[in-house]
Amino acid sequence: MKNSPHNVRTIKNDNRALIFNYIRRRPVSRADISKRSNMSKSAVTMITNDLIKEGQIIEIGATASSHGRKSILLDIVANYRYAAGIALHRKYIYICITDLKSNILAYSNHKISQWNDPYKALDFAYEEILRFLDQLQIPMEKCLGIGVSAPGPLDYVTGKILNPPDFEFFHHVTVGDYLRKRSGLPVTVDNNAVLLTMQQYISDSSHNFKNYMFVVISDGIGSAIMTNGNIYRGFGGFAGELGHTSIHANGSRCSCGNTGCLEKYINLKNLQEKFGFSSYQKMVDDAYMGDKESISILEYIADEFSCALANMVNMFDLDGVIIYGQLSYRSEKLAKMLQERINSRSVITRTHPVYVYFSKMQPDEASASVCSAIINRYFEQKL
Ligand SMILES: [Zn+2]
Repeated sequence: MKNSPHNVRTIKNDNRALIFNYIRRRPVSRADISKRSNMSKSAVTMITNDLIKEGQIIEIGATASSHGRKSILLDIVANYRYAAGIALHRKYIYICITDLKSNILAYSNHKISQWNDPYKALDFAYEEILRFLDQLQIPMEKCLGIGVSAPGPLDYVTGKILNPPDFEFFHHVTVGDYLRKRSGLPVTVDNNAVLLTMQQYISDSSHNFKNYMFVVISDGIGSAIMTNGNIYRGFGGFAGELGHTSIHANGSRCSCGNTGCLEKYINLKNLQEKFGFSSYQKMVDDAYMGDKESISILEYIADEFSCALANMVNMFDLDGVIIYGQLSYRSEKLAKMLQERINSRSVITRTHPVYVYFSKMQPDEASASVCSAIINRYFEQKL
């Protein structure tokens, strides 16, 4: 490959993106970046010194290295840039501004029922963003763009909402194009599960999974696969419909057209109807006290859920599964049951371990996830 100016710029951006990927997950030393990225120490020093001069990262003190020597840690400068977010929910719109570390600086919620035209709702959301930026005294050029979240299915490339159930108000609305034209800013549109997966990757660096599935359990079940920090999108960007994978060929019919879909079995509402408990928390507390019936309910959940998860482990050679949302209360017992079942069901676990744990992501981090795609694009040097 010739060293054309374009290639040199691309390599420089790739190296910067690689370095940002380490620093933004947790403060790290130059030596640590060099070791983990296979970049030379001199290259890491040169790039990080440039980023310090530009004001994008800072040195935040020292830590003892494995050799006993102190090494200086590098961290992101959170207020170097900002992102705006618009989360389109079924009943309300959430609007926010975050910094680069996903701290929410301003936010508001608004009922959708007050509008009769979806584009009027988007106009309001954009004007609210301008009001927030003004209040926070953030100049427009420091706003990276607008991240939008919505229930799927949606076309993340064009930013068009397709036909999510109970979301008719926004059906076929070209949210991405409309906001791009209105604001002149980059706009990303993604489904909630993808954005929560991106947020989890950044906000919880306690695991080092290379190829894991993040599962979001709410009324439905969404998921995404994260491979070395990148979301697996599939052909049209719709990958991750774990809730509509069948675990019973002759099971009950689902509105998606399939039979025996996972989300018909471990959805909290369906579990309450089937077993008659009113509080999931109380049922789990009883299981910890040794109540046999409650333990058998958790075993039922683990049996059904692990069936789908073992399929995913086998299909994608996962090294981890992280679960978020419903069923997270005192989750150690359920995580252990799931892990045992996946270990006995998946052929992959004979070659390497597959770990299951429940996400500790906090509610404000989850809310900030609406901006995570736009912030990711910035750190990937793609804005
Ligand atoms: Zn289904």
